[in-house]
Amino acid sequence: MSSPQIVWLRRDLRMADNPALYAAASQGPVIAVYILDDETAGDRAYGGASRWWLHHSLNSLSRSFAKRNAKIILRRGDAIEELVKIAEETGAETIHANRHYEPWWRKAQGQLADKLDLQLYDGNYLLPPGYVTTGSGTPYKIYTPFSKATLEQLPPRDELPEPETLSSPDKWPASDNLEDWNLLPTSPNWATSIADFWDVGEDAAHERLEWWADEVGDYDDGRNLPSQDITSQMSPHLHWGEISPVQIYHRFKDKRSNGWQTYLKELIWRDYAQNVICQFPAYPKESYRDYDERTLWRNPNAGHLIEEDLRAWQRGQTGYPIVDAGMRQLWQTGWMHNRVRMIAASFLVKHLLIDWRHGERWFWDCLVDADYGNNGVNWQWISGTGVDSNMFSRIMAPLSQSEKFDAAAYVREYVPELADLSDKVIHDPEAHDCLPEGYPAKIIGHREARERALEAYRQSKG
Ligand SMILES: Cc1cc2nc3c(=O)[nH]c(=O)nc-3n(C[C@H](O)[C@H](O)[C@H](O)COP(=O)(O)OP(=O)(O)OC[C@H]3O[C@@H](n4cnc5c(N)ncnc54)[C@H](O)[C@@H]3O)c2cc1C
Repeated sequence: MSSPQIVWLRRDLRMADNPALYAAASQGPVIAVYILDDETAGDRAYGGASRWWLHHSLNSLSRSFAKRNAKIILRRGDAIEELVKIAEETGAETIHANRHYEPWWRKAQGQLADKLDLQLYDGNYLLPPGYVTTGSGTPYKIYTPFSKATLEQLPPRDELPEPETLSSPDKWPASDNLEDWNLLPTSPNWATSIADFWDVGEDAAHERLEWWADEVGDYDDGRNLPSQDITSQMSPHLHWGEISPVQIYHRFKDKRSNGWQTYLKELIWRDYAQNVICQFPAYPKESYRDYDERTLWRNPNAGHLIEEDLRAWQRGQTGYPIVDAGMRQLWQTGWMHNRVRMIAASFLVKHLLIDWRHGERWFWDCLVDADYGNNGVNWQWISGTGVDSNMFSRIMAPLSQSEKFDAAAYVREYVPELADLSDKVIHDPEAHDCLPEGYPAKIIGHREARERALEAYRQSKG
């Protein structure tokens, strides 16, 4: 019998189109392993919402393995040490893994390759990060040319089926119990409304894809309207690798609709973000512009009281209905509509002049799709501090955005204090003199905030 093959699972929690699993299964008995490694990620250990999703996703995938008389071995600790131990315990010589690009995983992949035969595969992106380059062979920094070049290189690789057989090793190594990892919140259990909102796992991702196949045609017109359900809500499934973008690409045979074309460009944003963190591994932490950030952000060390404003933003108590609806949607569902993510993020950074890193961290803890690349790249784009082109001085106006994108029903859903207000006044009840009891006045006026932000920007440019 050939020696067992270890499959190191991370954010690729699926059976089908999983290149590492597919290759391992064709070479011998499969020992799939998931290691909860909070140390290697350092300050990027998973936040609360991610841990909730991870629990359910592992549960779901374990059930799929069990149906095929196979198992996922769960271990907790340093990933490399655990993999070496499992290899020693089982006689496995080869580890198969899909590549991941977070800096800690890139480092770990390099270290593991020095100890064992590590076979790496490209699994989670349309095209492997690093593949699309400029004419002179350098990576792109800006989204638009990256996107054009990617479109020229598509289609992606072929989709892989589930492995035909998963044969078992002679002896299974020991495994933790998922319940003992305490990934789910208990006291209090803040995740009940998140659980109502989502179905987790590979099957759920494919059900959503089938639903989306009927809706994608309307995406171009509908994606900016938070009151309507016209985005795929596929981001956590993609982030955790319950489905791959390659599977999504091949599902849409008719690629002529404007909706699909626009949707594809969003999937390319996802590829782009990984390319950015490959070039700038500290991107979610470091700015790349020549602003003097000591004068740009309100700074607690300079006596500014930002704590209260930050808390009001986090809790959806800013007095700006669209911002508050978004922040409460985040808390209730672990997800936020993209247009509202932009408005809420811009509000924190520009209206409140709070360093974008505070927002990035809050999203990291609260999003079920919290992604090192996507989150960092989008926060930097909004705050105009990254290598991409959006400028700090472009300040979104939340009140008119709310009106323009018809967010009345969305606000009613997430800010019940405003539920009785008409479409005409709900975007800015204070200005219409109908602020309901229990809902705060604006934390700062729009014009005042805009002028303060532009002044801080001027100062920071020296
Ligand atoms: C401040 C801020 C923070 C964000 N943080 C994250 C994050 O941590 N994780 C995350 O997956 N997305 C993040 N996004 C991007 C985007 O908001 C979400 O991917 C999107 O809202 C997810 O909903 P959806 O699946 O319905 O997207 P759809 O509109 O249906 O798009 C399809 C897929 O494309 C990808 N995508 C869409 N927009 C973007 C984008 N701007 N950047 C990168 N990929 C994109 C996602 O994988 C998404 O599932 C952030 C955006 C902002 C403005």
